[in-house]
Amino acid sequence: MAEDSGDSIARLRPGTLVLVATPIGNLGDLSPRAREVLREADLLLAEDTRHTAQLLRACGVQRTQGSIESLHEHNERERVPGVIERLRAGATVALASDAGTPLMSDPGAALVNAAASAGIEVIAVPGPCAAIAALSVAALPAARFAFEGFLPARPTARRDVLRALVGEARTLVFYEAPHRLHETLDDLAGIFGAERPAAVARELTKRFETVYRGTLGTLAQQAASDADMSRGEIVLVVQGAASEAGIDDAEAERVLHILLEAVPVSQAARIAAQITGRARKELYERALRLRPQS
Ligand code: SAM
Repeated sequence: MAEDSGDSIARLRPGTLVLVATPIGNLGDLSPRAREVLREADLLLAEDTRHTAQLLRACGVQRTQGSIESLHEHNERERVPGVIERLRAGATVALASDAGTPLMSDPGAALVNAAASAGIEVIAVPGPCAAIAALSVAALPAARFAFEGFLPARPTARRDVLRALVGEARTLVFYEAPHRLHETLDDLAGIFGAERPAAVARELTKRFETVYRGTLGTLAQQAASDADMSRGEIVLVVQGAASEAGIDDAEAERVLHILLEAVPVSQAARIAAQITGRARKELYERALRLRPQS
């Protein structure tokens, strides 16, 4: 049971920065409190002013205060000092991104850091977030998770990030561009192993909302044959490394070192996969890096 309704903006103290979550698709998800803050804040900062103005219109929110100003990844640093000055002068400032929760793969971090350092009150009007929505419907362990945001677009950099995550025991949550879904699932299956359970959540809260559940191997195959799977906005949820294996990167490399003394790379990877329960492809790539240079 909620502690108290606290639903009135009248409770907002002057000089407060408010991070406002907005819908990730379904406009019905804009909370009454978010609506009130978007209407009443002295200054509304938006990632894209036209986009937010459209949202306000669609949700029937008429701003009683001045205009909407932009704050996005390209102007955030230069805008921060001016916004902090206005907060210090007592303005209530709301920050909204194009969709979901500010700072979740969206702008706002520099402003929040500066406000916190200046002793300014920072509060959240919580609400939609694609990562959390996907995690809650994925049917994978949700008690402990790591949000990884977007993976690098370049394959080499992406694979490096995935290799560093291969032993992570927590459930992993990624944002992914639809045109990269297939290749990312292929990389994930190759590096984490095709048997690792995962889910692809697309178009959450929207008309074509679909959750695909399976293993990385089956999902990669499905992405290759089902064009719909790569349409729209996508969150990828991947179960963490099996804790019962208890084999971390250091231990896997210790096993590989021993094997590489005696057998070629491919054989070392195959045997190490049997010993550790980890993906052969991932071990093969590790072994290539570890093998003694002649
Ligand atoms: N701040 C947002 C949030 O709280 O979810 C995320 C912004 S990030 C720039 C945009 C990415 O979030 C998309 O590329 C997609 O990966 C994910 N996303 C946003 N809306 C989504 C939706 N309705 N369904 C699935 N994924 C979504």
